[in-house]
Amino acid sequence: MSPPDRTPQRRYDRQVAYAPFGPAGQRALAAARVAIVGAGGLGSALAESLARAGVGRLRLIDDDRVAWDNLHRQHLYTEADAAAGRPKVAAAAERLAAINADVRVEPVEARLVAANAGDLLDGADLVLDGTDNWAARFLLNDACIRDGRPWIYAGVVGGEAVTMSVLPGRTPCLRCVYDGPPPPCTEPTCRAVGVLGPAVHVIAGLQAFEAIKLLSGHPDALRATLLRMDLWTNDIRQLDLAAPLADCPCCRRRRFDFLEG
Ligand SMILES: [Zn+2]
Repeated sequence: MSPPDRTPQRRYDRQVAYAPFGPAGQRALAAARVAIVGAGGLGSALAESLARAGVGRLRLIDDDRVAWDNLHRQHLYTEADAAAGRPKVAAAAERLAAINADVRVEPVEARLVAANAGDLLDGADLVLDGTDNWAARFLLNDACIRDGRPWIYAGVVGGEAVTMSVLPGRTPCLRCVYDGPPPPCTEPTCRAVGVLGPAVHVIAGLQAFEAIKLLSGHPDALRATLLRMDLWTNDIRQLDLAAPLADCPCCRRRRFDFLEG
């Protein structure tokens, strides 16, 4: 029996066969560097999708540890990880290495804050939002707009999910859409109202798809809307994002309130 064909040509055959992506798309992915902020439900799903797709370098940023109540939606982690309370980025890096040894995974056990955001996101071609709170998202928006780095926002709670892609200088940013974080304790959280695992994977799948379009050199194919879905009621809405707000404090006036205080 001949040995299994472990070449990149074989591994990525089905995605390279997709004409809009093609061999050039695969080469671009292999050269790409992505930072994923948060290694929970969204972050671990994003990391797995992009590692399987062959993104060259993944930096995972999270300071949390695997817990028993993560396992229903955070597919990279096992019961053994939860029993040991392993750092998520360490458990994720080990699992991702087993999934695709060609991907360079850089686990960073830290929380993204204003003081380290510039350094932790440095060098990334794209930043993916796997966070679970508004303070982190507005900080990400500031850091990415300031440094001209594309990022993809997402949030999930209950059966609802939302996402939008931000290309600095081309599309609206988070502050073009939202004035700022809602007052503390006014927004539902997964801890308070729960979350169904597949909602996480639907929206992480959309983020990963947008990431692949961008990283493979097709920014014009990105969705130019804020997409909001309630997967329980099957209500799906898209808000057109025609252009940045003329007086956006962040992407137009370049005031980075969350990064610089
Ligand atoms: Zn803006």
